[in-house]
Amino acid sequence: MGRASLTRNGVTILAGVFAALGFANVQVGAKHTQSAKEPIQIVADLSEAPRRIFRAEIDLPVTAGPLTLTTPQWIPGTHMPVGPVAKIAGVAFTANGQTLLWRRDEVDLYQFHLTIPSGVTNLHAHLDCIVSDRVSEKVAMLEWESLLLYPAHIAVREIPVQPSVIVPAGWGIGTALTPMAPGSNPVPAAGSTTRFAETDVEQLEDSPILTGEYFHEFLLAPEISPKHVIGVAADTPEEAALKAPVLAEIANLVREADKEYGSHHYHEYHFLLTVSDVAGIGGLEHGQSSDDGVGDKDFTESERRPAIADLLAHEFTHSWNGKYRRPASLYQPDFATPQHGELLWVYEGMTQYLGNVLAARAGLKSPQEYREVLAFWAAWMDFTAGRNWRSTEDTAVAASLLRDIDRWGNWTRGQDYYFEGELLWLDIDTLIRKTTNNHKSLDDFERLFLGKGGNTGPAIVPYTFDELAATLNQVMPYDWASFLHDRIDNVHEHADFDGIRRGGYDVAYQEELSASEKSMVQAFPKWLGSLEEWFSAGVLVNADGSILDVRWNGPSYEAGLAPGDRIIGVNGRVYNGDLLRAAIRDAKGKTEPIHLMVQRESYLRTADIDYHGGERYPVLKRNGETSAYLDDIVKPLASSPNAAEKK
Ligand SMILES: [Zn+2]
Repeated sequence: MGRASLTRNGVTILAGVFAALGFANVQVGAKHTQSAKEPIQIVADLSEAPRRIFRAEIDLPVTAGPLTLTTPQWIPGTHMPVGPVAKIAGVAFTANGQTLLWRRDEVDLYQFHLTIPSGVTNLHAHLDCIVSDRVSEKVAMLEWESLLLYPAHIAVREIPVQPSVIVPAGWGIGTALTPMAPGSNPVPAAGSTTRFAETDVEQLEDSPILTGEYFHEFLLAPEISPKHVIGVAADTPEEAALKAPVLAEIANLVREADKEYGSHHYHEYHFLLTVSDVAGIGGLEHGQSSDDGVGDKDFTESERRPAIADLLAHEFTHSWNGKYRRPASLYQPDFATPQHGELLWVYEGMTQYLGNVLAARAGLKSPQEYREVLAFWAAWMDFTAGRNWRSTEDTAVAASLLRDIDRWGNWTRGQDYYFEGELLWLDIDTLIRKTTNNHKSLDDFERLFLGKGGNTGPAIVPYTFDELAATLNQVMPYDWASFLHDRIDNVHEHADFDGIRRGGYDVAYQEELSASEKSMVQAFPKWLGSLEEWFSAGVLVNADGSILDVRWNGPSYEAGLAPGDRIIGVNGRVYNGDLLRAAIRDAKGKTEPIHLMVQRESYLRTADIDYHGGERYPVLKRNGETSAYLDDIVKPLASSPNAAEKK
């Protein structure tokens, strides 16, 4: 519906805005280069996905002479140079039945140089990609950067491409790409090729394909236009058939987003969900879809839910915040130019805030779970010692360095703009609510900022810090520029708890893990360990006693512990997790330290932790503020007429 009404490629960029920002080179209608007149044809063959092999057959229109082809390097949404060129194998080029030699560029390793013989107008390329993520025996997600090959040094939105896919026999397909055959069955005939309408390389990279043996597609909130569907592929047939109550909550999410943002920037929206421990937990945003992964039973067992409850809401929100409205310096006309991360505290931080709020409004999490997760992240940020030397802005500028921090991550900091941003936007929301006596809120800002220009198809409207501050001023006159610069650019010893306090709550500590913390520990053991000693003795420990991280300058740091050490004894007895917790409880209010025996490599050492504060786990407690804005913020804005309908 309406796809052909925009530009030829289905994507529009608001050219006037770009021109105003000096982005004239990426306006719609910029001259196509010679090599980009005819569409590239790409057939992605996922038949061997269970063996972790994706294949591509690519036909490129060419003319005689030197040609440089490239694969994507800087991947939107990851904000990092993580295009999987290292996983590409079996590269072969042929023309008129002859094999052509190729040579990799010695500086830009994503580029392939060839010389096209005279008389040749079509170049055929074959490549395989060895995939390790988002794939299992029964499920595969194709992010097109795995297989894309196109002329270098051209804006990717200027390169037309016509994609097709082959999937294993009997597997279903979910994608926001437009099928060539309208209304085609999501389960194609065995061995057949499913063709999609022509698009461009930028939009194809933004349009993943989900396929799976156990595949269902559900229509969500049918009263809302345009169409929203969720495609689900799982490792078992039971997990793929999402239950009615879960579908009703996801449909509510569509309704809540419709109310919150008051506009949309897609022709259809497809949640593409894998339910698979093997394919993994995580999400990647796209304009018209999202690549979402949860573990087995994450939606069916309530105690597992809090850890993943905001995933769909987060990635869906990115369709507005990140895809449609994008920091000007983060958007680049190709996938070779580095993206600048300085405004990621908006792109990711505001999305982190809105994703949790919308998940709570939709019923995907309860108000209590909302507060538990918020308490955890607020305390986690407050206990991140690296905040004493590194600003939130620096975590954003250096984002591409900070995804997989290993040892002493507490001192280096990770991509903390997510959670610092969440606290910041809560601060802003409650400040607007309190100052305007609850007549205005961040909801008003979102409609102005994310809804700018009304309904569109997929489009990119870049923004700057100045526009952000000016739009906040439209909602509530205030010195927002100084407010933002102070919180983002400066180093602060403590995390920003102002929004929580103004919202009617304080960060407090209790002696038991919250239900949400238990869920997060179960979902992310490699990152959180058991979590049991972090906010007390200052050490993250796995069940086997191995240490994941030590809080810089905390009690365990003072005792000489280091990440990679393994605790093997507690107060003269062989280590187990219960014993360490009991030792922390017993040391409360006393002077005798906790005595540990620790293994580092092949050496043993003793370590005495001089900590006497007992067990501590963060929680929000109601304070003396009369208005509990935090409770208001998570109240639904939309009504929920009926549950989702099976398509
Ligand atoms: Zn995100």
